[in-house]
Amino acid sequence: MDDIKEKTDFIRDIIRQDLQEDHGKKIHTRFPPEPNGYLHIGHAKSICLNFGLAQDFNGKCNLRFDDTNPTKEESEYVDSIKTDICWLGFDWGQREYYASDYFEKLYEFAVLLIKKGKAYVCDLSAEEIRQYRGTLTTPGKESPFRNRSAEENLRLFKEMRDGKYPDGSKVLRAKIDMSSPNINMRDPVMYRILNKSHHRTGNKWCIYPTYDWTHGQSDSIENITYSICTLEFEDHRPLYDWFIEQLGIHHPRQIEFARLNLTYTVMSKRMLLELVEKNYVSSWDDPRMPTISGMRRRGYSPEAIRNFCSQIGVAKADSTVDMAFLEHIIREDLNKKAMRVMGVLNPLKIIIDNYPEDQEEELTAINNPEDPDAGTRKIPFSKIIYIEKDDFMENPPSKFFRLSPGREVRLRYAYFIKCIDIIKDKDGTILELHCTYDPSTKGGDAPDGRKVKATLHWVSAGHCIQAEARLYDKLFIKENPLKTDGDCNFKDNLNPDSLRIIDSCKIEPSLSSAKPGNIYQFERLGYFCVDPDTTNDKIVFNRTATLKDEWAKIKTSI
Ligand code: ATP
Ligand code: MG
Repeated sequence: MDDIKEKTDFIRDIIRQDLQEDHGKKIHTRFPPEPNGYLHIGHAKSICLNFGLAQDFNGKCNLRFDDTNPTKEESEYVDSIKTDICWLGFDWGQREYYASDYFEKLYEFAVLLIKKGKAYVCDLSAEEIRQYRGTLTTPGKESPFRNRSAEENLRLFKEMRDGKYPDGSKVLRAKIDMSSPNINMRDPVMYRILNKSHHRTGNKWCIYPTYDWTHGQSDSIENITYSICTLEFEDHRPLYDWFIEQLGIHHPRQIEFARLNLTYTVMSKRMLLELVEKNYVSSWDDPRMPTISGMRRRGYSPEAIRNFCSQIGVAKADSTVDMAFLEHIIREDLNKKAMRVMGVLNPLKIIIDNYPEDQEEELTAINNPEDPDAGTRKIPFSKIIYIEKDDFMENPPSKFFRLSPGREVRLRYAYFIKCIDIIKDKDGTILELHCTYDPSTKGGDAPDGRKVKATLHWVSAGHCIQAEARLYDKLFIKENPLKTDGDCNFKDNLNPDSLRIIDSCKIEPSLSSAKPGNIYQFERLGYFCVDPDTTNDKIVFNRTATLKDEWAKIKTSI
């Protein structure tokens, strides 16, 4: 797929080393999302890593839904996760698994631990358990229920399963060490009672395993050889090891890596859900969201996202990647692929006085200067055209080289024009301009060699079509939206101008057949893609990126 064969990072080094010592070692990874939200670009990093390792080392990668929490999980999320992974270009084959498929097996494992005297039913409330747990500097206190007999624990655990007890009245806990310096080892909860229906098991269960009790055993059941996790699970590794050792089952090797953080956005599903539910954005796939579906709708390609994940690499230390770097990678990709077209966001009408009344011409335009195979197309020209409002100034400052009274500029692929008159309404607002053109400059150059300092994009008024453009800016105004003062929260850092809708754009007629997902470069304005909100009556474009590469600037200033 991508050029990842030669890639190297500390995880690949570990695997290469293991393969040197054991040539037959199987490489089996998994991507384990919890279906409680849509995937984001951080997940893409994990997907590229887990599926990428399997590809590079001739192994396999499972898709496993870690669906242990019935209160937050939905099948809508399962479907979106599958769609996004496929779209990114990865394939889990037949290996689509669910932690909920292992509920019975996990129950048996728990019974085994109870029989070994390594787990007990505890009647302390959640609050009491928290108090008994101690802190980083003080040891925990043992639960008064810790020394129940195996028989009593087995009976109580069975009764928990059978629905005899209300939510929160009992839990099953591992019996490890309340004074361990690692808080995760202080008799962690393995099961809680939750009388809730599950998206796959329905009402079969009223006790649900915790993530910590489920995750390692699920990896083991699937014969995963490398459990790749993010750094926050480093402290959980001794617990996962303990469970596996007590049960005497296959032991995957857990390796932790640093999660991806990006400037100007948040990556927590809880926060992203809040943005969706409280209508700060239109949906999970709002093009401002850092979700994979949002980026797809924005016009990012799977190749570009994979390339980004490959370039940021895999490391052991936390860091934050500059959003400008992601956008730089996106622009590089679009620059190679996007057809160049002309469209005007804020139209200003121009009448070319010396152009014959009913004349029309077809001018030749280059589709993509980066791709000679993309060829050329014809664009219509006529007496009345539109240019961008911003490209005209009545009283220009000295650095403004675009159109102004008496000044000559080039219309891209067409002619030189000169402004000779301005028509205003009674309030002084400019309604239209009158210009003259020089027929000898057809195609864009003057035979006498005279130069102009600006080339403007334009569309022919009689031929253009109407469109809506949605212009996006950063979703948050702060580099780190989580940094807040006093009682502010991350939503106070939302950028009020992250979306601007312009509904009276005029675009060249070749775009009449544009379909959702198609990408274009509107000359001088940026990269745009057609949004699924497009109807037969109106084409809607999302601006994927402007043409200004902030990363290139940052790089040269370093
Ligand atoms: P959140 O905190 O937003 O709920 P999560 O880590 O709990 O995220 P999961 O669905 O459990 O979300 O994640 C699935 C996999 O993706 C996990 O293996 C997790 O480590 C990985 N992952 C999640 N976020 C990132 C990130 N920002 N960078 C790299 N990997 C990530
Ligand atoms: Mg998680």
